[in-house]
Amino acid sequence: MNSYLGIDIGAGSIKASLVHPDGTVLANTSRPTGAATNSKNFLESLENIVSEMRVPSLAAIGIGSPGPIDSDRGLLLQSANLPLLKEVALVDHLRNKFPYPVYYNNDANVAALGEYRFGNGKNSSNLLILTLGTGLGGGWVYQGKLFNGYKGSGMEVGHVTYDPRGPICGCGQRGCAETYFSASGFLTRYSEKTGTELSSAEEFFRRAERGEQAAVSLLDEGIEALAQLCRGLIHTLNPDTLVFTGGLIRSWAMFGDGLKRRIQELIFPIFRTYTRILPGENVSGTLGAAALCMEYHE
Ligand SMILES: [Zn+2]
Repeated sequence: MNSYLGIDIGAGSIKASLVHPDGTVLANTSRPTGAATNSKNFLESLENIVSEMRVPSLAAIGIGSPGPIDSDRGLLLQSANLPLLKEVALVDHLRNKFPYPVYYNNDANVAALGEYRFGNGKNSSNLLILTLGTGLGGGWVYQGKLFNGYKGSGMEVGHVTYDPRGPICGCGQRGCAETYFSASGFLTRYSEKTGTELSSAEEFFRRAERGEQAAVSLLDEGIEALAQLCRGLIHTLNPDTLVFTGGLIRSWAMFGDGLKRRIQELIFPIFRTYTRILPGENVSGTLGAAALCMEYHE
């Protein structure tokens, strides 16, 4: 029986799992990414991970990383969280060193496949995923197949406009949904509104939970922006299931019911009857990256 190596590249560490096709994790490892990493030692770390996890049954390698990426050419183009890495040809590098097929996609698409294969999207065939983390991302599994767009950069839904006169986004435009509902959006807007820098999104949600007015109003506005984004996506894609994943769903109790209620109000009545809306299981990035192998290799 084959096994797959799923690699999840994050700001803090590169994590990897050896995964059986039924989703059982056979082994784990990781290496620190390091804020000062350069392309050369980054590629060495990747290579060492593959050498360490190489077993006779290994059939393919799947990799997820923050975007934007060029999936055709296997390039990590750039990442806000890994500023020293630019145009890193990680797929070619591993293909030259090892005899395995290498599949690569951005972390939101990988998260979508993880939930689709192993998480709360398991019984879905038209699954829309929104990742609520540092940023706001999306993934779309249509009739069981991952949608990539022309160069693997489809579903950048965090940059759909909510308010063209809204706050400046990291992408350079104004009022993107991501500036209203994401960890970076909440923290930036909170500090602009109150002059106080918060250390984490958890701290923001704690303040909202205590009823602090600034946090409550930013959260309410965030829910409205996210619900409007979901309205557009549901009418465009007609998913059977919408799953929310990412770090912020740890605070789902703070916003989940309100978000679902608002989405239900905004969508066509016919969609209300069958569109399931729920939090995901936050399937790990390494399991999602292994699911990427299964998507293309089986
Ligand atoms: Zn934007």
